[in-house]
Amino acid sequence: MARIVMKFGGTSVADLDRIHNVARHVKREVDAGHEVAVVVSAMSGKTNELVAWVQGMPKVTGANSPFYDAREYDAIVASGELVTAGLLAIALQSMGIDARSWQGWQIPIKTDNAHGAARILDIEGSEMIRRMGEGQVAVVAGFQGLGPDNRVATLGRGGSDTSAVAIAAAVKADRCDIYTDVDGVYTTDPRIEPKARRLKKIAFEEMLEMASLGAKVLQVRSVELAMVHKVRTFVRSSFEDPDAPGMGDLLNPPGTLICDEEEIVEQEVVTGIAYAKDEAQISLRRVADRPGVSAAIFGPLAESHINVDMIVQNISEDGSKTDMTFTVPSGDMEKALRVLEGAKEQVGFDVIQHETGLVKVSVIGIGMRSHAGVAASAFRALADKGINIKAITTSEIKISILIDGAYAELAVRTLHSVYGLDKK
Ligand code: ASP
Ligand code: MG
Repeated sequence: MARIVMKFGGTSVADLDRIHNVARHVKREVDAGHEVAVVVSAMSGKTNELVAWVQGMPKVTGANSPFYDAREYDAIVASGELVTAGLLAIALQSMGIDARSWQGWQIPIKTDNAHGAARILDIEGSEMIRRMGEGQVAVVAGFQGLGPDNRVATLGRGGSDTSAVAIAAAVKADRCDIYTDVDGVYTTDPRIEPKARRLKKIAFEEMLEMASLGAKVLQVRSVELAMVHKVRTFVRSSFEDPDAPGMGDLLNPPGTLICDEEEIVEQEVVTGIAYAKDEAQISLRRVADRPGVSAAIFGPLAESHINVDMIVQNISEDGSKTDMTFTVPSGDMEKALRVLEGAKEQVGFDVIQHETGLVKVSVIGIGMRSHAGVAASAFRALADKGINIKAITTSEIKISILIDGAYAELAVRTLHSVYGLDKK
């Protein structure tokens, strides 16, 4: 007997037939004797519709958001998950399974006060655990909790993943299964490289890099939580026949296991290639090279909520002037330029140069820590294809390369093959 948390995303619960299919996946685990909690998203498209409705309302001045009262935004957008939780509970009951839906506040899942992007602080799971012990399936509405102001708070887009992992940690589940419309995590985007392979296992840290670099399988926050609490998390497909052989395998279900690196015996040097589109590069030329200059540049950008990514500063030639280059999402570039012009006096730079339409391609693998030459092979392979590199940053387990957007697909395929990811 195990305790399992199963999470189903929007496409998996998109209509009543699919909800019925989800119920069959749940029934399989219940019939095997496991204790089960299920976390659901809203039906696909529902949250977008709700958000659009909020945005269609007149602006409210004085509310704690420039456009609308974020607490009311949460009250509205949290409703999608309530519907699917109730519908799935009914579908399970119709199959003779004891099931009950739970809204975030009923558990309660306690969050902080950051409405629209709240963080989970604590889950009071004792009643849910007690009932699961009696064989009742808990069907929990994802994406939401209860703020300190006693109001519904949502966890940010894609937040049901985080709900699921947090619940798995709180009830000490043996496993958290994230059912989605893909059957696992791939070495790269299969739409770009058809030879991409599904990974059996990936380490939390690698998944964190893959998720934050645009491999949109899981909300980044959910991977952070899984890493901190060591929740063994499977990414698997809800579209496979719930009763196909192996689907109920407790130790080795089909899909990708995200786990502690110690669980990965055959560590590859490189695990995957990720990319992030729509990057813009900004360079400040001839910046005064003195203490406080970086703070003067990046402080105002942070205050304007501009997410700065790669940062490259040159060592100055004569100790008086240097160049500073960094990237921001393309959509934030104009705003960033305005902020920087406003800070020109304080920073003391000569000119700003900028470019949009760039792509960041990243090579990821914890095996890199102990292998030399990983970066050199990437640079050689890109050079052989005539791809120019605009900026490079590295961490222990990642090499990120900024290139012209036109070469994104070629670069991804080139790097994928140079590390043999298409062969194993
Ligand atoms: N329904 C929410 C969203 O679309 C949460 C989720 O699906 O994870 O962002
Ligand atoms: Mg999602």
